[in-house]
This record gives sequence, structure tokens and C-alpha cells, in this order.
Amino acid sequence: MLTKAPKGTKDILPAQTYKWNFVEGVFDEICRKYGFQEIRTPVFEHTELFARGVGDTTDIVEKQMYTFDDYAGRSLTLRPEGTASVVRAFVENKLYAGVQPSKYYYEIPCFRYEKPQSGRLREFHQFGVEVFGSSDMITDAEVISLGADFLAELGIRNVELHINSIGCPDCRPNYRELLKDFLRPKYDELCDTCRGRFDRNPMRILDCKSPVCQELVKGAPMMLDHLCESCSGAFETLKEYLNAFEIDYVVDAGIVRGLDYYTKTAFEFVSGNIGAQGTVCGGGRYDNLICELGGPPAPGVGFGLGIERLLMVAEAEGFKIPAPAGADAFIVCAGTGCKTAGIALLKRLRKAGMHAEMDGMDRNMKGQLKQADRAGARYTLIIGEDELRLNKVSLKDMTSGEQRLVGMHDVEEEIRGGINGRTI
Ligand code: ATP
Ligand code: MG
Repeated sequence: MLTKAPKGTKDILPAQTYKWNFVEGVFDEICRKYGFQEIRTPVFEHTELFARGVGDTTDIVEKQMYTFDDYAGRSLTLRPEGTASVVRAFVENKLYAGVQPSKYYYEIPCFRYEKPQSGRLREFHQFGVEVFGSSDMITDAEVISLGADFLAELGIRNVELHINSIGCPDCRPNYRELLKDFLRPKYDELCDTCRGRFDRNPMRILDCKSPVCQELVKGAPMMLDHLCESCSGAFETLKEYLNAFEIDYVVDAGIVRGLDYYTKTAFEFVSGNIGAQGTVCGGGRYDNLICELGGPPAPGVGFGLGIERLLMVAEAEGFKIPAPAGADAFIVCAGTGCKTAGIALLKRLRKAGMHAEMDGMDRNMKGQLKQADRAGARYTLIIGEDELRLNKVSLKDMTSGEQRLVGMHDVEEEIRGGINGRTI
């Protein structure tokens, strides 16, 4: 136990962190271009926020939350998703009082007690965006466009955008009844979970992964064919704007989304490259959530994008995330009294913005040179007793193999040209 991470969690080791830094940088940059600002919220919230926000008939709230009591007896929950917390922060800090819409993005760990498998973890990470305050379909199109740009930037081509409208409180109740009428004769054949959903959330049955249920729902009435005028008008406008953004999509009446709060637009980016857990990004509009969580009647739209799945897809498509550059300089000290001179030079080079390293294992000269190689050093700077006497350094260009003496205080200038465009 002591030397094993909890089931469903993963260390992100140095051989991977540079990839995470890279995708985070790309996401930051795209969000900046779209005028989104970063928001950071606590890892845990009052349990009630998710029960109300995510919806108490969802899988997440019914069986996937990491919930615990703190020492004062408060029920708290590790966040299973990002939206509810951002809404809470928006309401609590009265951000709705400023000019709207409000456009936020975040990069967060999420926690769900699920069966770990490929693309499904108990601690996983999401990039997310949320826009509050706008009912205009341009907002939905922008959110989708941001997601599409991000995936394209990471070389992801084999991905399909699926869009749907899942109605609103005006048209959904009627549709639910139609769906229940259709499913009623098949009730006994539904899986246990779906029998439980029949009254409380019948639309989720359409989304059930069990092959038996998938067969049973074939031919069911679809929300898309029973939208009210406002919802169907909005869906037409969305398609028009997506066309204007030159974004390809397929209308997929089967998208339901796992969270209860969605209204109108629902969408997913699905990859054909990573097997069953192919949904890299999922999102939609939620026009009543903010109000339900105690805020003003402000609409919202956003998405969540799984970073682990994103990296799997990028890799499957052969996208090469650039590996970090090696050291600009590695200082090799060969003789008594040389180390202090080496330290002074090390400090100067770092101050000048360079990636400079020196041996830390008391290796001999040969070992230090080997270490310089392992560090991927562009230059090796050798300080021996002879060099020290002359106040010079032997500078070895590791690319050409050429070695020459340079003045101790000219080193920075000498190597700056060679590393230009590399790290500084
Ligand atoms: P799924 O269909 O895979 O169950 P979901 O509908 O539960 O996904 P959302 O709640 O919309 O997913 O979360 C958005 C994204 O977060 C997903 O598209 C996926 O990339 C990622 N994600 C969700 N759950 C997990 C998990 N347990 N492990 C890894 N990534 C996840
Ligand atoms: Mg899920």
C-alpha cells in the first residue's frame, strides 16, 4: 500500500510533464486569442453544490463522488467536474454585475469513483471553458470553435464534432412522455440502471452503454424532432454560425450528455483513434443552472475536455510534442580549487538566463564529461588548474567537437550566439 498510488490515479513523471506543459501552453494561448480569462476554484466544495448543480439523477452524483465529512461535520466533495464550481464563484463574487458575457477557462484535476480502464481514471484532468450571460448562438459557436482550434493545433485530424439539441423545460417534458410511452412495453428488458432511470431521467436511457439497452432504444422518438420553436430556431442558427466558422459537424440526435443541467446545444468531439472512451471533449448550453444555484437568471455554455484522453489521441495521431532542450552549458571542473570558480561561472550563466549545470556526484573528469553528454549540453566548459591560472575556460562545442580557450568573462558572449533561438 505504502508504495502504491491509489487505484485509478497516475503519477505524471518528468518524462510526461513536458507534454502536459506543452498542451497547457497551447490551451492558454488559444483561450487568450478568444478573450477568455483563467479562473481557479477550490478542489473541494460543499456536496450540495454538485448534487444540485450536476443533478441528483446523474451517475456522477448517484455513485461517483468522493464525498467526506470534515472535522466540523460539513459534507464536502472533491470536484467531479468544473462547471458547478465556476458558477458558484460567479454568483458568490457577483461577477454577473460586470459587463457580460463573462468568459472563463480552467485547467483542473477532477475526481470520480469509476471503474478504471483505458481513458477512464479516478483522478483525471480537464481543460474547460464557460461563458455566462449570453443566449446568442454565436457563443455556442465560439465555444465549439475554440475546442476545434485546440484539437487542430495538436494535429488531431481523426475527430468528429457531433452536435444535437436536447431541448428546454418548455419542450422536454412532452418529449419525455413520448419517450416513456415508447419504452414502457420494453421496461422489463431494460438494465437495472435504466429501469431506475425510467421515471426520473428517461433520456439517459438513450445514452446507456449496455448493448441490450442500445438495441431497445432503436427507433425511439428523438428530442431533435420534438423541439419547441425557440430551440429549433436556435439549432438552425448554431449550424449557420458553425458553417461561417468553417467547422465540420454531424448532427447526432443520440447525444444526451451525462449531466442534467444541459439545455438546447449539446456537443461532443469524438475520436476514432482511442477505442471505446472516444469522447475527448463534451459540452453544451445550460440556461437554468446559474439561476438554480442561487444566481441571477443568466444563461451559460461551456465544455470539458479530458487531458489524459487528449494526450492519447494526439499520440495515436503521431503528433510529436517537442521534447525540452538540453543544457546550454555544462561546467566540468578538473582540479583542486576549480569547483568554486565553476560555481561562480554557473551562477553568472544562470543569471544571464541560460540553462547551466554542473556535476553533483563528485565524479572524475571522465564521468563529468559523460554527464555533460547526458544533459544534452550544447557547450561543455572545462575549468582545470591551467585554465584557472590563465583566468580562462576551455570551451567545447558539443556539436562540432571543436575546443578552444576563452576568457573567463567572455564565456557568456561566446556561447550566446551558439544557443541563439534555443532556450533564451
Ligand atoms: P464519458 O462519456 O467518457 O463517461 P462524460 O460524459 O462522463 O464522459 P464529461 O463529464 O462531459 O464526460 O467530462 C468531459 C470530458 O472529461 C470527457 O469527454 C472525457 O474526455 C473526460 N473524462 C470524463 N470522465 C473521465 C474519467 N473518468 N477519466 C478520464 N477522463 C474523463
Ligand atoms: Mg462519464
